[in-house]
Amino acid sequence: MKNMKGAYPGTVLALALLLCFSPCAVSDGLPDLGDVSQTVLTPLQERQIGQQSMLQIRASKQFLDDAEINDYLDQLGYKLIENSAEPGLGFEFFALNDYNINAFAMPGGFVGVNTGLLLTAQSESELAAVLSHEIAHVTQHHLARIIAGQQGDGLASMAAIAIAILAARTNPQATEAAIASVQARAMQKQLDYTRLHEQEADRIGLEILQKSNFNTHAMPEFLGRLQRATRLLEGNAPTYLRTHPITSDRIADIENRVQKQPYRLIPDSLDFQLVRTKLIAAQKTAPDAIAYFSDALGTQQHGNPIAQRYGLVGALLRNNEIERAIRELAILRKLARSDPMSRNNPMIETLAGKVKRAEKSPAAALAFYRSAVQNFPQHRALIYDYVDLLLQNDQAETAVKLLAAQLTRHPSDTTLYDLQVRAYAMQGKVLEQHQAQAYSYAWQGNLYAALEQLELAKQAGGSFYQLSTVESDLRELREMLDARGKP
Ligand SMILES: [Zn+2]
Repeated sequence: MKNMKGAYPGTVLALALLLCFSPCAVSDGLPDLGDVSQTVLTPLQERQIGQQSMLQIRASKQFLDDAEINDYLDQLGYKLIENSAEPGLGFEFFALNDYNINAFAMPGGFVGVNTGLLLTAQSESELAAVLSHEIAHVTQHHLARIIAGQQGDGLASMAAIAIAILAARTNPQATEAAIASVQARAMQKQLDYTRLHEQEADRIGLEILQKSNFNTHAMPEFLGRLQRATRLLEGNAPTYLRTHPITSDRIADIENRVQKQPYRLIPDSLDFQLVRTKLIAAQKTAPDAIAYFSDALGTQQHGNPIAQRYGLVGALLRNNEIERAIRELAILRKLARSDPMSRNNPMIETLAGKVKRAEKSPAAALAFYRSAVQNFPQHRALIYDYVDLLLQNDQAETAVKLLAAQLTRHPSDTTLYDLQVRAYAMQGKVLEQHQAQAYSYAWQGNLYAALEQLELAKQAGGSFYQLSTVESDLRELREMLDARGKP
């Protein structure tokens, strides 16, 4: 085979990205963190701490592996970052399946949002307000400064401290498993954001919110609602209030600032509503979800009819009521076509594809996806389904091409690697199959399993170029494991 390099742009880039953030890469450049005069991390070190922490978060059960929800958060987040002090900074937004109301930011621009918060936000402006506040914590390097001020002798231990802080903040009952060192937990109390941090994040967050054309009044409204809820819960405060200490002073301060600003009624985007609909549906059994959305669309109409019908079609599919799903989808698409804001929505198109597949006419479904991915080439959820269908229909070559293109954009997407494993297996490409499996494991934080797969890839044999990439991946993975100091 010629031009092997061209054949694996995605995979080669992928591990390189992961590994260049490994502890070994900077072990010689770290400042002595015991020295209080050096309490600032370089942007690269912040990013590395964030990356290391993400490996642990991705490995946890709470990581919500839903590309549509994570892509939505990314989209909203980047709209806000454009109006921040560091518009060029790389961020990654992701959702955690956790009904505690919380959001948090790690050094290097990794921002997590709990499903509980997504469901509690009454408007997109409220969600944007929370994200702006978190973005401000990142651009002001608050957590990075706290971590840099602690005792720590390497990147891995700093990442452990970061994770420990977050775990303790997010779920005090379940910290045991997540906290890597007892020392880190003992520190936890002194590691909270200070009032000064909070004030700064509020002030800067508000500026971001305003510049991004959201309703700034949403920030005090959201905080006020949380505070009122706290009183009712009697001491059982929403996590968000514990991690971002809130006082009446703080709310009053924000209220003062927004008072002079106009109250803007900004309509929620359809994506915001569809994401919430998905989360609401996920909390219910299929029959309950059908009843819920039917009710919302019935005489007691409430909510956005397009979002409610989107929920209904999804629930019908889950309940295997295909005929009714087809009928409701037809109504949904007609409704969406007549509304400029909903006309070209990739989430509705992805759902339509799932209904098409349930109709069990592969040729029609393949034709549907061919045109859908042309309209929405960046919508990962749609690509996953299309690739799965391609593989079911023995079209591994087309699948491999699509996956490579997606992986250059999303080198840490383990679902793409898992699909790649299936595609290579069908093609009988054993080395590539194990290599893709290795990347999937590595990005899930399972480095030992990744190492094993790379060994298998090496044994499978291949071209000189292929074997040398496997060798270099192996080398870096071993160094990474050494740096972690585990057996
Ligand atoms: Zn905060």
